[in-house]
Amino acid sequence: MRTLRRLDIVLFSGLTTVYACMCVGFYLHLQSEYERDLRDAALRQMDVAQAVRQFTTEHVRETLLKDAAEFHPASVPSFAANQTMQYLHTLHPGQLYREVALNPMNPKNRATGWEVLAIDQFRKTRASEFSAATEDGRAMHFARPITVSSTSCLACHGSPALAPTNLLDRYGPVHGFGWQSGEVVGAQVVSIPTGPLQGRRNQHLTYYLGVSLLAFAAGFAALRRGLRRRVLDPIQKAGNAWRKLASEDALTGAASRRSVLDVLDLLTGPGAEERAVSVIFVDLDNFKLINDTHGHLAGDQILREVTQRIDAVVREADVIGRYGGEELLVVLPACKRKIASARAHALRQAVAATPFRVVGLDGVRRDVPVTASFGVAEWLPGESTNELLARADAALYRAKSSGRNAVKVARQDEELRTNAPMA
Ligand code: GH3
Ligand code: MG
Ligand code: MG
Repeated sequence: MRTLRRLDIVLFSGLTTVYACMCVGFYLHLQSEYERDLRDAALRQMDVAQAVRQFTTEHVRETLLKDAAEFHPASVPSFAANQTMQYLHTLHPGQLYREVALNPMNPKNRATGWEVLAIDQFRKTRASEFSAATEDGRAMHFARPITVSSTSCLACHGSPALAPTNLLDRYGPVHGFGWQSGEVVGAQVVSIPTGPLQGRRNQHLTYYLGVSLLAFAAGFAALRRGLRRRVLDPIQKAGNAWRKLASEDALTGAASRRSVLDVLDLLTGPGAEERAVSVIFVDLDNFKLINDTHGHLAGDQILREVTQRIDAVVREADVIGRYGGEELLVVLPACKRKIASARAHALRQAVAATPFRVVGLDGVRRDVPVTASFGVAEWLPGESTNELLARADAALYRAKSSGRNAVKVARQDEELRTNAPMA
């Protein structure tokens, strides 16, 4: 079951990584949609107000100014726009539209706070849009500049001397004059509450993440079941069969030399071309010295424990055999040499990482550091097991020559040692 647990870990971490990336992707996408929706809502209001302004300028203003002796606020485009938007906001409470100026005729329309900032920015940078969130984040402010673009504006806002008298009677000659053609004098400002759109974004996010979590859970279960049925179970069955075949070595509990070689023969037999098979030779370093220093009983114990450590690292389908004295042979079915090499490195680490606690010749318990060298080879179709083992042994020889406690992988054309082992 160790392999299944490993598979679970790999699948789970892979799918979790993909799911986390998807969560971030969803959030970024929905956040940009949310920001776009806020802006669209604000621009729509400004466009409606702009249409009212235009209608007032083209159809209302002239008529009222000509025919009426009294001043009619309805003839002022910004007044008409402000009023119309107020009606609109009775239908959509919480929103706010205003047309403000730095120097308005009506003090009610004087820009304050962030509106002054926005107009200043329009005047300095000629920017066409401004947006800022309120401090508590509950609303978003948007603004667009109001520029004096037609001379009809200057009829009222140019010089007090030229302004209609009824206008002067109402607002006096001090404020709202001196506007210049092309000058940015104010801004359309809109405040949109963020709550409803944020709520919608969060709803969508919960929905997407929920659905994809279900999909991932189902995918995980299906992948796990499929891999288990099609890959793990057959390998395990084969492994179990080989293990049964392999009679045990009395000291280490590993397969005997004969048995492990039988397994290797089977794996490289007819029909084996489609399956990869690798072998790892393990030889304890300076084991004679360990025996001489701590005694054969301690050496035996180390040999047994090395085999156990190796067994804890390899897959269930892999077969460990005692090839000779302090030499083990691991046969790895369905395993290419790259993976076999990685496994050999893990084995080397498992042996060398922790010293072995043994009772020495003097009866004292002590920790003995032990290392081993490893020779890895992948079976080449057409190659005999002897040739394969000779290449693995040559790689082991190189690991010894490189200073021991090392892993070497056999090349295809590995030079054969004269004393290559014979199965
Ligand atoms: P190298 O790093 O080159 O492999 O050095 P080494 O000393 O391990 O190699 P050498 O071939 O010189 O010695 C192998 C030793 O392994 C000699 C033998 O006493 C010891 N040995 C072999 N089988 C057993 C065993 O079953 N029990 C014990 N305790 N020692 C064994
Ligand atoms: Mg040896
Ligand atoms: Mg040795």
